Amino acid sequence: MSRPFLDLSDIRTIQIDPTSKCNLRCPQCARIHKGKVLANLELTDLKMSDYDRIYCKEIAPNIKDTLFNGNFGDPAAASHLKSAVELILKRTNGTVHIVTNGSLQSKDWWRDLAKMLKGCGKVTFSIDGLKDTNHLYRVGSNFDRILDNARMFIASGGKAKWDFLVFSHNQHQIEEARSLAIRLGFAEFNLKYSKRYISENSLKENVIDQERVDGMSSDLKESLHVQKSQEILNKFKTWENYFQTAKISCKFQKNRMIFVDFKARVWPCTWVAAPPYFIDNASPQKISIERAIRGYKKDFNSLRHYSFKEILSHPWLHKRLTESWESERIITCARTCGDQIEYTNGFHQNSKLEILKNADKDILPTSLDSRIDSQ
Ligand code: SF4
Repeated sequence: MSRPFLDLSDIRTIQIDPTSKCNLRCPQCARIHKGKVLANLELTDLKMSDYDRIYCKEIAPNIKDTLFNGNFGDPAAASHLKSAVELILKRTNGTVHIVTNGSLQSKDWWRDLAKMLKGCGKVTFSIDGLKDTNHLYRVGSNFDRILDNARMFIASGGKAKWDFLVFSHNQHQIEEARSLAIRLGFAEFNLKYSKRYISENSLKENVIDQERVDGMSSDLKESLHVQKSQEILNKFKTWENYFQTAKISCKFQKNRMIFVDFKARVWPCTWVAAPPYFIDNASPQKISIERAIRGYKKDFNSLRHYSFKEILSHPWLHKRLTESWESERIITCARTCGDQIEYTNGFHQNSKLEILKNADKDILPTSLDSRIDSQ
């Protein structure tokens, strides 16, 4: 039976991609294709008038958490970020959580942000290893600068979390990074196991990306469910076959979350929001989502053209999306929220979160952490 994705009054968490700008070139980020920023990607930011429409009077009082975590940009690259945080904290009683590579902005900026978020927010620094490894995935990052920014943020009263994406090239540094996190005063340390070996190409070719698996320790392979992925492929022969039978349990609907992108377009979640901007027109995910929204006006989900209420009442979010979970599934939905394999490392699935000693456990719930696999 079809049902709305969410009603206006259901929304508790808003995830926002405030900009399409970033200083890094992480190879599997959605904004990067073959090592370069997508040639078709418009470099732009949300406007303060967009926040006015997002945090309208029907929604703002219910919001418990805002998550700045981009598909195409780093929130710290958005020049308006602090103004947006100010508006959100004024209009809602909720918390604000920012996920960043940590290598942008000045130390003064981080000090000011810490003061704004003290007691009502936190920053996750995505640091995948140490000085000799972080830049291998976080291409273009400056480790010393990240630590300087984190130090200033923490010294100014900010609550900080260290997210460590585990790869074969940094798996041996987990303990050292954890000790450093403790010494620096991070409140949380989180190991993230991402299925980057199931790439767009491997979806097309119905394989797992062996190059990315080679070199992984057996522990890492186990944490990444490499064998399980292969078993699914052996059983269903193609990813598409699996996707068309997977039972879907929607993570964003369950957690009463919604996503707004850097052009103020509303999407059901962070994962579905990315493929429409892909440059590769043969991407299985892009084809699948374009098929699902074909026939709708170009701006059908834009807050610059419609109110949040109108967008949620649009046929797609009102019923077609939820219907698709039982019939012609969107590949991204089946891949991310299918029942046979846990793909994402958001919501602490495929993650190991540790609350570090002396952390203030009462500031924020830890269950709402979500992060797209592309950053
Ligand atoms: S991928 Fe689909 S099913 Fe999963 S959270 Fe997004 S909208 Fe829901």
